[in-house]
Amino acid sequence: MPLLKTAPEIFAQAHNLVQRGDFGGALARYGEAANKFSKLGDAQSAALANAYAATMAIHHGVNNPATYRAATQALQAVGDAPLKIGLREVDASHLASEATLLAEELEWLAFEPLGADQFRQKAQALQTLSMKFRTQIGDQVLILPELFRHGTVRGTQKALPLAAYAEQALGEALVGTDPKAAAEHYQSARLWWVQAGNQGLAEAAAARVRGYGRSARCWFCGREVTGEGVHFLSIPSNLTELLTRGTGDGVLASANASQNTVYACRGCHGAIHSLADQIAVQRMQELEARVGAQLQALRQELAAVRAALNSIRR
Ligand SMILES: [Zn+2]
Repeated sequence: MPLLKTAPEIFAQAHNLVQRGDFGGALARYGEAANKFSKLGDAQSAALANAYAATMAIHHGVNNPATYRAATQALQAVGDAPLKIGLREVDASHLASEATLLAEELEWLAFEPLGADQFRQKAQALQTLSMKFRTQIGDQVLILPELFRHGTVRGTQKALPLAAYAEQALGEALVGTDPKAAAEHYQSARLWWVQAGNQGLAEAAAARVRGYGRSARCWFCGREVTGEGVHFLSIPSNLTELLTRGTGDGVLASANASQNTVYACRGCHGAIHSLADQIAVQRMQELEARVGAQLQALRQELAAVRAALNSIRR
């Protein structure tokens, strides 16, 4: 048995493991190869083995952008070297850009914006990313999802949900100041979801279109407001038939008779809420004071009883 296998032999072994779906085994083999090549002073083969190893390592963290970033770095180190990935042959540079796009997708989808500016920033990034999937990958199949048996995904398919999420982020950026414009962005998002074949998210977007586009008259102050769930909210009430008959002189409703709720603008809702909160705290403090006084009286009685008992014992 020869002590040292040649580079092509070691790579052939590891490639075989990949084809059998043993990505952990392949990762170990490529790692060993990288070590062996660096000890032999063959930096080029070592870099190639590292690029393969980093690609296999994605399998252990398919939802972790850091694994894709690490693979990008290792792949960039071998330039345009042709790689054998499962049954496909691909340039390292192409795989590096694919890994970068997948990392960016995970990073931006996980980003939870605080405030309108960050929602705008997220929308912008998702739009750019959607465009990159469309132009850089297009109708080609993405190598990594296919390799790890996550189905056949084309760049154009990736672009659709990203465009939908971008519209939704724009909607959230606008809802605080212009709920009707926000509803329009959710309407665009709904169309992207329909195109992407995601009926569930298309319906969720449609619900936002209805909610953000809906107007009501506040039951308490009479103000006309648009944007359900943001600028006005429902409060459970106890409406009589008479009350539901006259819910306003205009066309806007101030109550929902079938659900027995009234609409409150954000201002009235907040005021009612904080007042109720204050009263609850006050009642609690009164109760605590009363119970505290009773406890104190009981302690004194107990002390008196103890003192009496002690004097009898003596
Ligand atoms: Zn109000």
